[in-house]
Amino acid sequence: MSEFDILIEGYRRFRLGAYREQRERYDHLAQGQSPKVMVIACSDSRVDPTRVFDAAPGQMFVLRNIANLVPPLSAIHGQSSVAAALEYAVTILEVDHLVVFGHGRCGGIAASLSGAFDNAVSGAGQHIHEWMEFIAPARDSVKAASALSPDIDAQRALEQAAVRLSLENLASYPFVAQAVKKRGLEMHGVIFDIAEGALRVLDGTSGQFQSVPVEL
Ligand SMILES: [Zn+2]
Repeated sequence: MSEFDILIEGYRRFRLGAYREQRERYDHLAQGQSPKVMVIACSDSRVDPTRVFDAAPGQMFVLRNIANLVPPLSAIHGQSSVAAALEYAVTILEVDHLVVFGHGRCGGIAASLSGAFDNAVSGAGQHIHEWMEFIAPARDSVKAASALSPDIDAQRALEQAAVRLSLENLASYPFVAQAVKKRGLEMHGVIFDIAEGALRVLDGTSGQFQSVPVEL
């Protein structure tokens, strides 16, 4: 069975299982969506925010890209999937929360640190390199810090710095800044660690990522 056939099998299970069980919800959603949350997550196949948050269909508006980045408004020119999705979520859907969802062992972050695609001007990796340049300032300061203190985990530090930077960049979009001011739109940063299964939330007061306690 090919991987695509496995997907079709999955669809059949969904159709007879979850779709049937939540029929009422899907009927209601057919009329329109009104999610209260937008999540910006990485495309990484291991970190699906709807799974981690155990979210139901219709609960969150999700944008995924390499390394869950939000470029600053000043850096985008013309079309931008991030700007369009953000604009739709904030001005049309009027979500109440924007969540930048980072994750451990992010390949995009690792490539930024290693410079794996730095010379890929016209070859494979060019687009990844150009995209990851949005966090070049954060990468440079993490690299400088880890050169001075070898005990710093550069990968983890940059994963966190990238989430902080994306949160700052969100505020560079006028409609986001306006929604924060006028109707209390909230912004959150979180990081999910695959190996530990742990979610850490950026605490606005301490500026640190703190584990969400779970009674196992
Ligand atoms: Zn990633």
